[in-house]
Amino acid sequence: MSLLDSTIAQFRSLRLSATAGELATLLARAEANELSYLNFAQSLVEHELNARSSSRVSRNLKQAQFPAEKHLEAFDYRHQTTITKRQVSALLDFSFIDNRDNLVFIGPPGVGKTHLAIGIGHKAVQAGYKVLFRTALALVEDLELAEMKGELKKRLNQLSKYDVLIIDELGYLPMTRQARYNLFQLINNLYEYRSVILTTNKDFTSWGEFFHDDNVAVPIIDRVIHHSHIFMLGGESYRLKQKTGG
Ligand code: ADP
Ligand code: MG
Repeated sequence: MSLLDSTIAQFRSLRLSATAGELATLLARAEANELSYLNFAQSLVEHELNARSSSRVSRNLKQAQFPAEKHLEAFDYRHQTTITKRQVSALLDFSFIDNRDNLVFIGPPGVGKTHLAIGIGHKAVQAGYKVLFRTALALVEDLELAEMKGELKKRLNQLSKYDVLIIDELGYLPMTRQARYNLFQLINNLYEYRSVILTTNKDFTSWGEFFHDDNVAVPIIDRVIHHSHIFMLGGESYRLKQKTGG
């Protein structure tokens, strides 16, 4: 085995696989650029760190389970005029996540709520945060299943490992009393600890009605609204616009 090969194998045994894979190239580049020893050492560690952070981002992107690829770059603010690009861009310093604030997008179907939630979630992943996307329905089923197995607490704790939980389409379908209660537990667990991005077709005044039960609705609303950025979206459905070519 050559010295290069054995060195590569040693890097690999230390689990520095990105460096191991590129060692020959990194060496050749150092020689060509006459790097100092220190700069060479630094280039190795930088290479490994960059590779790790980009593989972490791709792992987190998979784990986020976004239902579709929606990018903020493709969002048309000439169609959706009830939110501005400036408002959305202001969120992308992610201080809302660091402050455990929530985002709430309220509006009728087709106005871009889910698109914005995914787009912002995607950027957050790229910035190194962990995100999970769930429809309210899937979340409620998930919690119900966990409860039946006697693992509600465990599941709630798993769900609070993410920096951001996206809850899409709250309010579209009715929920059982137990489902509402489980959802309340979840919101309670995340309150002032993690961020929620919520999309809903109901404004807060009709939440009481939706939850049928003010004992649960009021505290949920309270915790979601407190520390949150609320965006009321209006306008025409984008789906409709595309169908009619308008
Ligand atoms: P909502 O969640 O409010 O019901 P969606 O975000 O699912 O609406 O939007 C419906 C479809 O229209 C999606 O395919 C979305 O990408 C697209 N869309 C909505 N608003 C815009 C917009 N302003 N610019 C570009 N695409 C949009
Ligand atoms: Mg939607």
